[in-house]
Order: sequence, then structure tokens, then C-alpha cells
Amino acid sequence: MTKKWVYASRAAKQELTDTLGYEPELAETKEILGGKGAGLATMTAAGLPVPPAFTITTEACVEYMKTGEFPPGMWEQTLEALKEIEKETGKRFGDPQNPLLVSVRSGARVSMPGMMDTVLNLGLNDETRAALAELSGDEWFSYDAYRRFITMFSDIVMDYDREHFEKKLQALKEKEGVSTDPEVSLEGMKELTAEYKRMYKEHFGEEFPSDPHTQLRLAIQAVFDSWNGARAVAYREHEGIPHDWGTAVNVQTMVFGNLGEKSGTGVAFTRDPATGEKHLYGEYLPNAQGEDVVAGIRTPMKIAQLKEVMPDIYEQFSQVARQLENYYRDMQDLEFTVEQGKLWMLQTRTGKRTAAAAVRIAVDMVHEGLITKEEAVTRVKTTEVDQLLHPFFDPKAKLSAEEQGDLLAEGLDASPGAATGMAVFDAERAQELGGSGKAVILVRPETSPDDVPGMLASKGVVTQHGGMTSHAAVVARGNNLPCVAGCEGIRVDLERRQFTVPGTGRVVKEGDIISIDGGSGEVFWGEIRTLEVEYEKQESLIELLGWADEIRKLGVRANADIGRDARRARQFGAEGIGLCRTEHMFFADRARDAVVRMIMAETDEERQAALEEMLPFQEQDFEKVFEAMDGLPVIMRLIDPPMHEFLPPREELIAEVAELRCTDPDSPELAEKEKMLELVNSLWETNPMMGLRGCRAGIMYQGLTEMQTRAYFQAACRCAKRGIEVIPEVMIPLVGHVNELKLERGKLEAVAKEVMEEEGIEVEYMFGTMIEVPRAALTAAEIAAYADFFSFGTNDLTQMTFGYSRDDAEGKFLMTYVDGIDTGTTDAEGNPIKFKILPDNPFQKLDQKGVGRLVEMCVKEGRAANPDLEVGICGEHGGDPASIDFCHRVGLDYVSCSPFRVPVARLAAAQATLQHSQ
Ligand code: PEP
Ligand code: MG
Repeated sequence: MTKKWVYASRAAKQELTDTLGYEPELAETKEILGGKGAGLATMTAAGLPVPPAFTITTEACVEYMKTGEFPPGMWEQTLEALKEIEKETGKRFGDPQNPLLVSVRSGARVSMPGMMDTVLNLGLNDETRAALAELSGDEWFSYDAYRRFITMFSDIVMDYDREHFEKKLQALKEKEGVSTDPEVSLEGMKELTAEYKRMYKEHFGEEFPSDPHTQLRLAIQAVFDSWNGARAVAYREHEGIPHDWGTAVNVQTMVFGNLGEKSGTGVAFTRDPATGEKHLYGEYLPNAQGEDVVAGIRTPMKIAQLKEVMPDIYEQFSQVARQLENYYRDMQDLEFTVEQGKLWMLQTRTGKRTAAAAVRIAVDMVHEGLITKEEAVTRVKTTEVDQLLHPFFDPKAKLSAEEQGDLLAEGLDASPGAATGMAVFDAERAQELGGSGKAVILVRPETSPDDVPGMLASKGVVTQHGGMTSHAAVVARGNNLPCVAGCEGIRVDLERRQFTVPGTGRVVKEGDIISIDGGSGEVFWGEIRTLEVEYEKQESLIELLGWADEIRKLGVRANADIGRDARRARQFGAEGIGLCRTEHMFFADRARDAVVRMIMAETDEERQAALEEMLPFQEQDFEKVFEAMDGLPVIMRLIDPPMHEFLPPREELIAEVAELRCTDPDSPELAEKEKMLELVNSLWETNPMMGLRGCRAGIMYQGLTEMQTRAYFQAACRCAKRGIEVIPEVMIPLVGHVNELKLERGKLEAVAKEVMEEEGIEVEYMFGTMIEVPRAALTAAEIAAYADFFSFGTNDLTQMTFGYSRDDAEGKFLMTYVDGIDTGTTDAEGNPIKFKILPDNPFQKLDQKGVGRLVEMCVKEGRAANPDLEVGICGEHGGDPASIDFCHRVGLDYVSCSPFRVPVARLAAAQATLQHSQ
């Protein structure tokens, strides 16, 4: 028996069941019939008014692609299906009295731009045109339908651009002195049709095909061929859709919306696709065909107005919309036609929607009993939640900026959100202007702790260099500042206070307005309208995340360094602080001087005095964090960065000293600068990321660990005495050898005990370590004996496992590794073939094979040595959905990420639970 290639919509459900031997799920039906074909079958089976149709399967397309011929039996089955339609409609294909006309459309499993559009009115020739005139009583309409068909067929099926035909129509309108199509005279339409046929003959050297079967055969071939059209292939590449799926072909009886005032055509969503509100949303255009709505020549009425014009049709349509939504259990995008007072449904598919609508629809549908909480949590995308937390560009305004050529450059999407403001090139100026209420965007080659106050006074940050874990990126994410980092397409010139875009001649000077999208990494010239969002007002989102919390197994904590961020994190649902980077507390001016004195101290007394000055700053900050996290754990990490970061830049000092030596050799200023330079030189390291940082700083700077521990436990004890429930956890950074941990633990426990005795109160605490150095992961069992918890610092662990500098790699080679290296060869379409070294940026998405293997091994061996070991992650990967899925799979206890990623992490953790519980 030959394979079944063609399914009549009327019987498709049953026949598919017969063919497969079981009743297919919707997804499998779509695999065979395509999305449109499945929609037609479903609507027909539900008894809805659907013009009779049939679908040629995607499998037929796959066979056609192999041989360039219809598979055996397909054409015969097509003719049989056509007969069925003829029986149902009482019309016949090519009949000079009562002709059947059809539309032909492509329809892959998922809707896909770049594939063949619809050909309408197929089956028309001189004779059937005459019959159409007779039947409709409208000769003009028949010519109009015929000339549209010739245009569409030539353009879509034969690839003879419709523009040539449109030009003729335009010329005719000018000749007749009219502006719209319906005003063209009958004679004009007749002439035009004849002209179109002449054009076709001249172009192809043969007559326009008048045999409806030939028309159909060519149209089906064109649909199959369009699957491998350049635009369709490019779209599939981009979306990761397999190239071997193929497309179905849908052939459907024509109904006419342009047969007078009781006819019309419409499109509608079952809910508002912008807000998600539950009401019909769409448009209706009387006396028109679908393409007239798209062409935008006449303004359609709102779907609600249809209620007044044709109440019965409106009522019937509303009912159908409800029925379809209930069946698909999702918002539908519907196309319909009214032909002389009768409603016909042409298409239903899942409607595209904004992020806000996606969340609202999912939540409302749970309340309506249509879907479960689990389905709602699975349905909403983490990218949609992310969008709802940050200001974003008005999509129309952004599009027009792109069209005007205002996109200056693209860098890394380092911290999401959109911002507009004047470009400034130093942090002080940013602080000055930002402080006076001006919107500024800070543009720097890269940022350092000195720039933080200026960054905080800005609306957004752009850096020419630096990666996803660079200073700018981390600080921006922590403070919800939009940031484009590593924007290597610009050249920042601090001296001239400007940046240029090489190769374009464009220059942005201080004060010029620019706009940045940190979610896409784009930098634009000029202002783009920005829309604000407020988390607290988003009831549906809050409710959805509540359900995610009920489902997820992973805890979600936040990386936050000060009280304000900790409060923010808690509002977003964080269940504690997974990383408090205590060095950030010293970047504020008030504490910085004391740190510098501590570094410069020449005697123990001097150092002790400086440490005592630093202590109250830390203590106060810790108290604020404990207050915000009442009842939840707070991990304080001992100081981490290279110490020279607190001192003035070496290059600057060298220049200043050189100048003073010439201009004012005896000045006390020179003496002071020389002393500072000497110190900076003594601390200077060729490779500071591998140098005196992490626990090494605490070990080498006498008294530093003790001071930080004292500040932390004083804060904890004092908060506890005020009735705040404190859960302190202390964490040692960058451990590579167990002895580092042993030493630090010893110092710390002594201080903790001492402080508790002084304060007269006991607080329970945990002591743990970060795992950031491969050696620490490899000796997990040894280390676990001295730690109550591990927290993976995957920023450093990635840096050290790959041997890629987290500060430089992304700006130098890493993104080329991800995009692919040019091989010097091209594919069949002439596109360059690239060789991808890495699938993703490992600083953004955890490298599961390499870094992940270390993590997995470390968790296993650590827990084997210490069964109570608590394990989390606090590198930037803690906020990335794919990495969160990995963390769930390897059994971590929690993820920790910057506050504005907490909601995303809550959803991602729940989705991981659902995904892996099946
Ligand atoms: C890490 O290395 O992953 C980490 C969290 O520490 P930092 O980014 O502060 O080095
Ligand atoms: Mg680190």
C-alpha cells in the first residue's frame, strides 16, 4: 500500500489515528500536518465552520527534497482529496459553470517567515472567471480576483516580482485619475488582466497556465521549494530549527470577503497580546480580502465594532474563539472571513505576545482552571521575566533608530535594561552632572573601583574593554544599571572626551546623547524612548514566582554588599545573601583612606590604627545587611581584590612624578608622590588576578582577617541583641590549599569567640570556603574537613580552568571563538563557513563539560567527606538559566546571583525541577 501523503481536514484526526495505530498528541499532529494543517484539522473536527481543505504532509516535502519529484502516489492522493472537496462544496475544479477556487499555503511545524506565502484564487482562468462573474453577479469583482491571482502566482510561484504588476496598476490608476483600487473602472480591470497575461507570456515565453491542475501542481512544488529558500534557511539557522523537518501544503476552498458589505475579513487574538487582558483584540475590514488588511490602504474597524455592525457574526465568532482557546489552552491568533453573511474560520495558531501578556495569560489561565500551575511556570520564559524587571526601549522607537542607521556599535550584553543620556567620559563628571539630575551614560575604556560613584550617578555604562565578569559588568548588574561592556567597535579617547566608531567617521563627544540596550549590547546615537517597569506592581509576575517557589528544589540567594541591595534582593524573593563582597564596602570615599593607610603602614601600630579606623565602616554596613535579611543567612566573604586596586593607577603616578621632577623638584607634593609610587611599585604585579588576592591578602596583611571578622560578629551580636534573627556565615575566598583554610579558620574562630564574650551573646555561625581554584576542587575531601559549606566562585574557576583572563579574553579572542573562525570557504548560498571553537561564552554560561566536571566531582567528594556540607554557587552563572539547570542536576543547595536576577533564577530553578522530574 502506498504511504498516505494527503489528509482531508474533515477526516484528518481519524485517518491519522488509523495510519499511526494510536491517537496522536497535538505536537505529533503538527509534525505531520504542520501547524496550519493541524489547526484546520482541529477546527474542522470541532465542528467549526471551516472551508473544506486538505493537507499534504511534511513527510511528502521531505521525500520531494530528496528526489526533486513528488513521492509516488502523492499527486493521485491530491486529486482524490480535491474530489472530496468538490463533493462537499458542490463545485468542481475548472468547471465553467460552478468552479472551485482554492488557496494554497505553506505550513511548517512552527510558523516560519521566509517560506511561501498564500496564493489565493487558484483555479481561475478565462472561463472560470466568467463563471465567477455570473455567480457573484459582479463582473468587476471577478476581474479583480483574476488579476490578483495572476500577480500572486507569478510572484510567489514563478518568482516574477509582483512589483512589475503593481507598477501597471499604479499607472492605470493615474491614467483614470483615481487613488484606490476599487475606484478603477471595469474596463480598466479588464485591460489590466489582459496586460498581466501578456507580461507573463513575454517574461516566460509561454502562456499563463490556464489549466487549474497545472496551477495547483506548480504551486505545491513552489511551497516545497520555499523550504530551502535562502530566507527560510537563514531563519532556521538563527532559531535552531532542524533543516530536515520540511513543510506541509494546505489547499483550502476559497471564500470571499470582498463580495459586498455583508462580507469582510478579519484577524483577532483571543486575548490582548500586549497586556494579556481577556477580551477579543483585533480588526475587521468589510468588503475586503485578507491582503487588503495587510496592505493598510483602508483602515479596518476594531473587532468590538463588529458587534454593532453584525451582532450575530460577532456572537458566533466570540463563541468560536472561546472554544478554540479552551481546546488549545492558550491564547489564539485567528483569521476569519465573512462571505455574504456567513462566518468562515481560516486559521488558528498560538498567538505571539509581549512578556507582560505572557505572564498575565499564564496566571489567568491557572485561575480559570485551563492549565496547571506547573504548566504556567513552564510556559513563561526566563527571558520574559528578565524583560519585566528592567526599563526597555519602546520597540517602535528602537526599530526606527535602527532604520535610520543610528546603531553605532555592539558589545557584550553585560547588564540588562535600556537607558538614554549624554555621554560623559570620567566618573567625576558623571557624578557632577548625574547629581544635578541630568541623565548621563558613563563611557570608559574600562572601569575600576574609582569609577563606582560615577557609575552609580549614571543611567548606564559603556566600556570599550572587559568581559561579562569585568568590574563594570559586575557592579552594573549588582546595581541594576544597564551596561554594554567590551564594546570593541568604539575607540574611547579620554583626552578629547569623545569616542569614535572607526570606519564610519562617527564621533560622539561629551554631552552628545546616546542610548544603550544592556540586554542586547547595542549602543545607539541619539535618544530612544524608554519605558519603565515596577516589580511591585506586577501582581501576575509575583504570583507566578510564588508558584515557582513551591516547585523548585534549589534555594535562591543574592549577591549583595550593602543594605539597600539586600533589601531589594529580599523584595525579589532572595532567601539570603550568598555573597557579600566586603571589599566593595571600602570603595566608598569615607573608608578608602583608611584602607590606603593600612596598606602603606610601615609599623604594626600604624597598621593596627588604620584597621581600627576601617572597622566601624564595616560594622555599620554589616548591621544594615543583617537587618535587611532578618531570619535569613548572610555569607560574608573576607576581602578579595588585589590590594593595589585601592591605590592610584601606576601610570598616572609615573607621569605626575616625572612632571613634578621637572617643574617643582623640591616640593613636598613630589616627595609624597614618590613615596606612593614606591609603594605602588612594590605591590605591582604582572598578573594580579593570580597574585596577592583572596585569602592570600588576609594571610599576608596582618590583622585584616581579624578586623573583618570582628566587625562582622559585632554586627551580628548587636543585631541579635536588638531582636533581629541573624544567621552569619563566613567565607574564605580563593583557597587552593587546605592549610590556607586551616590558618584562617583558626584566626577567625578565636575572634568570633572573643567578640561573643564581649557582647555577652552567642550566635551560631557557619564557616566555609569558596571553590575558585581547580586545586581546591581537586582536593575537595581534604578541604571539606575544615568547611561547613562550599560556594563555587565560577568566575574565577572558569578563568583558571580555561586559562582565559576574565578581564581580557572577551575583548580579545573569546567572542571570535564563540562566533566562529573564518575558514575561507563558503556554503552553497555563498555565505562564509565559520568554525566555532566554543558553543557559548563560558563566563556567561557554565562550561558543563570542563568546569562543570570539576564542580560535580567536588560536590561528590566534598559531601562524602562531610555529609552535612552545604553547597552553593555565587559566580555570575548563578543567574543564568542553563547553568541553574546544571546546578539543579548536580544537587547544589542554592544558587546566588545579583538581586535583579533573583526572579529569573526562581523561575529557572522551578523549570529545572519540572524538567527533570518527568
Ligand atoms: C567568583 O570568582 O566566581 C566570585 C564570585 O568571586 P569574584 O567575582 O568576586 O572574584
Ligand atoms: Mg572570585
